[in-house]
Amino acid sequence: MDEEALADLRRSVSGEVTSEEHPRRASSRDASAVVGLADAVVRPADADDVVALVRWARAHRVPLTARGGGTSLDGESVPVQGGVVVDFSRWTSIGRVDAERRTVEVGPGVVNYALTGALAPHGLFFPPNPGSWRSSTIGGNVATNASGPRSYRYGPVRRWVHAAEVVLGTGERTWLGPATAKRAVGPELLDLVVGSEGTLAIATSVVLGLAVRPARRCGVVVAVPREAPLGPLATGLTSRPSLRLSAIEYVDERVGAALRARPDARLPGDGPLVLLEVESEGVEPEGEALTELDSVLRTLGISESPSVVPDADRLWSLRGEAGAVLDGLTGPRVREDIAVPLAAVDAAVRELEEIAVRAGAALYVYAHLGQGNLHPNVAVDPASDPGARVRSEILELARRLGGTVSGEHGVGSVKRSYVPAELGDPAVRVLRGWKALCDPDGVLNPGKLLP
Ligand SMILES: Cc1cc2nc3c(=O)[nH]c(=O)nc-3n(C[C@H](O)[C@H](O)[C@H](O)COP(=O)(O)OP(=O)(O)OC[C@H]3O[C@@H](n4cnc5c(N)ncnc54)[C@H](O)[C@@H]3O)c2cc1C
Repeated sequence: MDEEALADLRRSVSGEVTSEEHPRRASSRDASAVVGLADAVVRPADADDVVALVRWARAHRVPLTARGGGTSLDGESVPVQGGVVVDFSRWTSIGRVDAERRTVEVGPGVVNYALTGALAPHGLFFPPNPGSWRSSTIGGNVATNASGPRSYRYGPVRRWVHAAEVVLGTGERTWLGPATAKRAVGPELLDLVVGSEGTLAIATSVVLGLAVRPARRCGVVVAVPREAPLGPLATGLTSRPSLRLSAIEYVDERVGAALRARPDARLPGDGPLVLLEVESEGVEPEGEALTELDSVLRTLGISESPSVVPDADRLWSLRGEAGAVLDGLTGPRVREDIAVPLAAVDAAVRELEEIAVRAGAALYVYAHLGQGNLHPNVAVDPASDPGARVRSEILELARRLGGTVSGEHGVGSVKRSYVPAELGDPAVRVLRGWKALCDPDGVLNPGKLLP
């Protein structure tokens, strides 16, 4: 960006504009190996400022990359083509909770876990709880259509976004809604934001739907025999709604060992683990539901009695540490996010082992098992040729088994080349058409999502 454009930027927006080294470096990475340095970082003052910023970007043809917590895993929030990072981390307003309609309007910079805390006194919660919930923001969650363990029962973020105020890449500001519980006026334009990774519009305010907190919930940890097939286990659990499970997670033996070493982990056994959450309206969740769970597990070949973790949130925060714990063990590694039908889970795990063996590297798997969403981690440098080969073998495996190259993390700059094969040419043409309409000059997060 030249000096004249920077000077015009300072004149155009009233929020903070900086071209200093430190904030640019701080926003040059996400949680992946992708790196890109912006020329400036802007903290817009309000939605009018975002409009001014987009108009400025169009006039000077400068890329804008929105950023929340910067925890994306495929370069989504990295300014790979330079330009300006639009930092929403201070947009943390949480509006009045409408307990009757079960909605709340929030700023895009609200951290997921902070929202959970703010909603608790109202007896409500925002269900999707990604492993990054202590640092990822609602804006990022919405733009990546994130999920978490509770998405097994409650679905991904898409299901909970009722309306949003956005600024399109044209510089137009509009509400996508209205925030009714249902509507049938045309296709769902709100999906311009949800899952579009900041490539079509920038969200400046979001109205979220909320769920009623169950009277009680607890975590349950089950030690699983090493040879137990996972597909039948998952199907056995998912086919029994009376168990009131809201999460069905899995960690393999290696990840289990790494998590057991965390302070206060208190995890049973020494092999793979299934982590569950049980909801209950009764006073004693450990009562009926757990008795039934115990007998269901026995029919599925698991004889160890499950251990109860009274504070389920503690279990999900521990599970969310899996990635960081592996960072310490393996260093840079290929970490993936495929989802396959439950019937294909065991074939997927077998073939993942083969891929890792061929690469001469260890495989670590954790999974949102109830949804067939596997996170294989292979301890090989993703920037190396063998790393690129491993990634491509994993993604091709997912497609061959009737699955997807991303269950929840998104595409970013890393997986763009796999999008046409997964969506097909006609759908890609439609996406390109939307992009041209919403962002005619291609200033919003270029280099992401579409090849
Ligand atoms: C330890 C760890 C665990 C994780 N666990 C999960 C998990 O369980 N489930 C899951 O789905 N993901 C998970 N992730 C990935 C990541 O946390 C999610 O993708 C999350 O939604 C990103 O939120 P963020 O605030 O960090 O967004 P960022 O990384 O800042 O941005 C992500 C994308 O959102 C866009 N964006 C941000 N704000 C806006 C806005 N206001 N308007 C438009 N676009 C915007 C950015 O441009 C970018 O494309 C995990 C990551 C880590 C590091």
